[in-house]
Amino acid sequence: MSDRVVVVGGGISGLAAAHEAARLGRDVTVLEATARVGGKIDSGFVDGAALPFPVDMAADGFLARQPEVVDLCHELGLGNDLVSPTGAQAFIWANGGLRSIPSPSVLGVPFDVDAVAASGIVSETGVKDFANRIDTIAAPLVEDASVGEVLRPRVGDEVFERLIDPLLGGINAGNADGLSIDAGAAQLAAAARVGGSLRDALRRQVSEAQAAAAGPVFNGVTGGNRRIIDALHTELGDRVRTGEAVVRLERNGTGWSVRTAAASYPADRVVLATPAWISAGLVSSHAPDAATTLTELPYGDAVLVTFVIDRSHIEHPLDGSGFLAPRTEGLLMTACSWASSKWAHYDDGTHAILRVSAGRTDDLRWLELTSEELVAQLCAELAETVGLRGEPIVRLTPWKQSLPQYRPGHLDRCDALDEALAVSMPGVTLTGAQMRGLGLPACVRQGRLAGAE
Ligand SMILES: Cc1cc2nc3c(=O)[nH]c(=O)nc-3n(C[C@H](O)[C@H](O)[C@H](O)COP(=O)(O)OP(=O)(O)OC[C@H]3O[C@@H](n4cnc5c(N)ncnc54)[C@H](O)[C@@H]3O)c2cc1C
Repeated sequence: MSDRVVVVGGGISGLAAAHEAARLGRDVTVLEATARVGGKIDSGFVDGAALPFPVDMAADGFLARQPEVVDLCHELGLGNDLVSPTGAQAFIWANGGLRSIPSPSVLGVPFDVDAVAASGIVSETGVKDFANRIDTIAAPLVEDASVGEVLRPRVGDEVFERLIDPLLGGINAGNADGLSIDAGAAQLAAAARVGGSLRDALRRQVSEAQAAAAGPVFNGVTGGNRRIIDALHTELGDRVRTGEAVVRLERNGTGWSVRTAAASYPADRVVLATPAWISAGLVSSHAPDAATTLTELPYGDAVLVTFVIDRSHIEHPLDGSGFLAPRTEGLLMTACSWASSKWAHYDDGTHAILRVSAGRTDDLRWLELTSEELVAQLCAELAETVGLRGEPIVRLTPWKQSLPQYRPGHLDRCDALDEALAVSMPGVTLTGAQMRGLGLPACVRQGRLAGAE
């Protein structure tokens, strides 16, 4: 019976793997390179701001209709602390104003011509183009392709660039023209696989979702997502070792020795819940082709800047969840979440909390700016978009090389990686955002599966 499991990487995927392995009675150890577990999840108090609660530094919510994180929170005793957004509308910055995102839509893809026309986001020509394309009868999608390849011909360039790319490209600081539709937008892939009119397929999806709808689309946790990490860490206790960077995997009989600079951990099974380039280094001497595939997964850089200021210093009523900024508008910011309006647990009645993102794979301007220049530029853009007046308290959280960019064929490459490791490195599994999904539900799902293997 194989039951010594070593998990490499203490992000949410690795911790979920360890949680599952421990639940099944296995002897599990998590090795995390840095001093803190959580990886791309963190929350903390904003220095200098008189807020009585911590604020998320990256993910502030997760899909609730994929139940993995919600279920995990219940298991960890956080069920009563799950919260949902206030339901306020979202906007797009277009043509010098904030305009409501047309509804209905699926993952940012609208299908009602009148709603698109009324939004003011798309020009008259763009609306006509959209109207001419949305009912085109298309052949069913067979192979994976990019979101752009599938959707541009069916909605037109303007709708694609002003409505779809800001959401789907923005989620991973990338570009919807390069994003695998199967790996990055499965719901749209399902609509395209039906063939026929895109409007009919999306309309059907919306009515099915409405019929099945129970509960909110998104959830967060009061006090921030860090609490999920802390609860996992507490549960796992000294099975989690921080400051232990894994440098090598060596064969050890039928199992493995997981080597850090100072120690060696015997394992019957190893779960690699690390970024792809780290996994590449760890598998390279045993499975060189798999290492090459992992090295070729590009990552995007993003920065999240939290602004806190007295509400009276912002002219806009912030009556929504925030806005997206299409690349066509030329702003440095890609999105601005009005956290204090979006989440009741971030509303202290006095302050506006704005979480501003910048950075795309094809817009690295923020990396060339000093912190002061970056903040000054974003403040100028907040003045233009929401009427910021005054000096906010600012917290800057860079997330370099943080968001994997799934190119077409990504899921096939994941299957090939699994097969290559099963042959060359039996007992070693790849999991987490480097594989089949970067959203928190996908990370927890994959982690738990790896921990249960
Ligand atoms: C700015 C931002 C906003 C986001 N917003 C959302 C959101 O709103 N909703 C959502 O669902 N998702 C969101 N995401 C995505 C999500 O947070 C991540 O995809 C997810 O947290 C990745 O988890 P992971 O455990 O797979 O990887 P990681 O979090 O990258 O964890 C990998 C861990 O491995 C460790 N490690 C690396 N090398 C070694 C080594 N040699 N030895 C041991 N350990 C090692 C790292 O230190 C790290 O702790 C966001 C991401 C970012 C960056």
